[in-house]
Amino acid sequence: MNKEDIYDLTIIGGGPAGLYAAFYAGMRDMRVKIIEGKDQLGGFLHTYSEKTIWDVGGLPPMKCSKLIEYLVQQANTFNPTVELNCKVDRFARLDNEILALYTAEGDIHYTRTIIVAVGRGIAEIQKLELQEPIQYEHVNLHYTVQNPEHFSGKRVLISGGGNSAVDWAIELAKLARSVVVVHRKNEFRAMERNVSEMNNVTDVRTPYSITRLHNHGERIHQVVITHMESQDNVLLDVDEVVVSHGYKSNLSNLASCGLTMDDGMVLMSQHAQTNLQGIFAAGDCATHDSKVRLIAGAFNDAILAVNSAKKYLTPNAPMMAYVSSHNEIFREKNKQIPRF
Ligand SMILES: Cc1cc2nc3c(=O)[nH]c(=O)nc-3n(C[C@H](O)[C@H](O)[C@H](O)COP(=O)(O)OP(=O)(O)OC[C@H]3O[C@@H](n4cnc5c(N)ncnc54)[C@H](O)[C@@H]3O)c2cc1C
Repeated sequence: MNKEDIYDLTIIGGGPAGLYAAFYAGMRDMRVKIIEGKDQLGGFLHTYSEKTIWDVGGLPPMKCSKLIEYLVQQANTFNPTVELNCKVDRFARLDNEILALYTAEGDIHYTRTIIVAVGRGIAEIQKLELQEPIQYEHVNLHYTVQNPEHFSGKRVLISGGGNSAVDWAIELAKLARSVVVVHRKNEFRAMERNVSEMNNVTDVRTPYSITRLHNHGERIHQVVITHMESQDNVLLDVDEVVVSHGYKSNLSNLASCGLTMDDGMVLMSQHAQTNLQGIFAAGDCATHDSKVRLIAGAFNDAILAVNSAKKYLTPNAPMMAYVSSHNEIFREKNKQIPRF
């Protein structure tokens, strides 16, 4: 291992918490690496990238995809090293100074401190589970709605009972020829007002679940739904099927590294310190008494975690970075940005 292989700070996870931590650690003159399990930065925001975000302080309402762009741009301000498609499986302390992170791909990364910013872990789409193999994913079976116009004038079946399923049902009902919503329970886990609207504008079938897909060539053209109690079947003609069954993920691999967990989350102090020396936590994976599970909360955690990491490395460093408005570190950069 060369000296330059050892980073001051390695951030596991490139969501809002990890990205903001990378920026803020740059303000604190730390050499930073972000390790992200997916092929792109942005974290959970990619799962609702077409939605409009209103509640990030100081920003006008914007598409979440735009916010991802801004977060990534800001994270790159001090040129952190970014490793994509690397899933950290575990970490361990090698000696007083150095920690090692081991990835599922077989790589080892060396660092002096770690910020765990893994959100809910690597979120995998909860796919439709049927006995027969499902082969229509690139044709007319969708797990997200990327382009609502695609559903214009079509017969759409949506399966799911959460906020996303309900939101998409309402949105697509404005464009589609018809929308049927299938959910295996009678109750929806979504905002009451939206559920009422969905009931008005779509054909809701509960408690039903999809049990068979019939194809015509490479497309699904009929779906069998089965009543959860009576087992009665109904055959529906469809043009497009949207499955919105949520995401599965877990953080159990982190717990096995010795982190104290609380209800499946990493327990952190008010200074974002975990129970392990040199290891800090930020964002949705972390928990403490006044945790805010929002993008704004992730930013706050990130600042706390970076400041604690800095103090851990340099005990006589100031408690926080100097404010950006008067920080010398931006003197040259200020000349490069367009005047406003
Ligand atoms: C449907 C929905 C809508 C929301 N809307 C809003 C909203 O309008 N406003 C708002 O403020 N908040 C909203 N939130 C909450 C917001 O998305 C989260 O608070 C935020 O994403 C948390 O950021 P994070 O960085 O902690 O985690 P994440 O965004 O989950 O990012 C974690 C990253 O870590 C990576 N990762 C995980 N495990 C590993 C590993 N082992 N190795 C490497 N990488 C790993 C993941 O791939 C991911 O990229 C919403 C949440 C949901 C579910």
